[in-house]
Amino acid sequence: MPLAGDAFDSFTQLGLLRDLSGFAPKILDLLPIGLQIDNLEHHTLYVNRSFTALFGYGLKDIEYNDLWFEVVYPDPVYRAKVRAIWEERVLTAAEFDTSSDGYERTVRCKDGSDKVVEFHIRRVGDYFVYLYIDVSSRHALAGELQRLAHTDELTGLANSRCFFEIGSALMRGDRLPLSLLTFDIDHFKAVNDGHGHAAGDQVLVAVAACCRRILAEGQTLARLGGEEFGILLPGYDKRQAQAIAERLRRAVAEEPIPLAVEPLHITISIGGACDRQQSGGLDALLLRADRALYAAKRAGRDQVCFAES
Ligand code: GH3
Ligand code: MG
Ligand code: MG
Repeated sequence: MPLAGDAFDSFTQLGLLRDLSGFAPKILDLLPIGLQIDNLEHHTLYVNRSFTALFGYGLKDIEYNDLWFEVVYPDPVYRAKVRAIWEERVLTAAEFDTSSDGYERTVRCKDGSDKVVEFHIRRVGDYFVYLYIDVSSRHALAGELQRLAHTDELTGLANSRCFFEIGSALMRGDRLPLSLLTFDIDHFKAVNDGHGHAAGDQVLVAVAACCRRILAEGQTLARLGGEEFGILLPGYDKRQAQAIAERLRRAVAEEPIPLAVEPLHITISIGGACDRQQSGGLDALLLRADRALYAAKRAGRDQVCFAES
């Protein structure tokens, strides 16, 4: 039954509302949304049951708005940001009888956990009404999808989508120069043929872990596909990138992979290229590194080749 707009003209419905008014707190407690009612001086007068279920705070915890802000937004920078948005929204709500668009906040709950809520504010008569909708699980799911979309399932490394996103961002940035390595496992088909596909997978995981240990944070190692990997080295010039490529090549060659039957020695070939002015795009840099990789293969494998700058 609609209870808005013209529907209020109906005598029966007005009567119904009058009858129900004594039950208002009970009805508000049934709502699955956190509800807070402040007076125009921002003194909190009421919170419903869902509010307390959501955050753990009762009315006594939040009677004074300044304290409430400090408790639920412990990080001062984040608090200042939330406060600025809140002040702007309160002004709009006070002036216009419109519902503000929801916006998201991360709230520190009484038990110390964080919840992401969509927040709405509206002025109703001489009160401000706040609504808090829990969107934490939607957020967590979105985060997990984002992680899956950027991760190579087998090795746990970045995948090629992630590599291109980070590489393109670095190209647009100002951290000159940018070096890029690509490497490919030598005679990998023979590993699969001789030891089976599962052993091949084990080799991919071991090579990924070996290289990851050598690289620093901020140096993206990605599996670009099959047995080919890519590395982004922001701030590295050609000489520095050559040195790290050589370290990687040697580490892989010197670390036998413990397969079920016997340890397996494998090698990688590495191609590198450096862009000092971020002149071409990422594709051009990758193409130069790939050409250098083929040169390393042609020259006998287990070596590093670098594109001319
Ligand atoms: P090269 O030294 O010239 O690189 O020779 P290669 O044998 O390593 O190269 P080739 O391109 O002939 O073979 C690559 C093989 O990698 C073929 C393919 O079946 C295998 N491969 C690709 N992806 C995977 C994977 O995820 N797991 C396993 N086990 N093998 C894979
Ligand atoms: Mg290959
Ligand atoms: Mg290969």
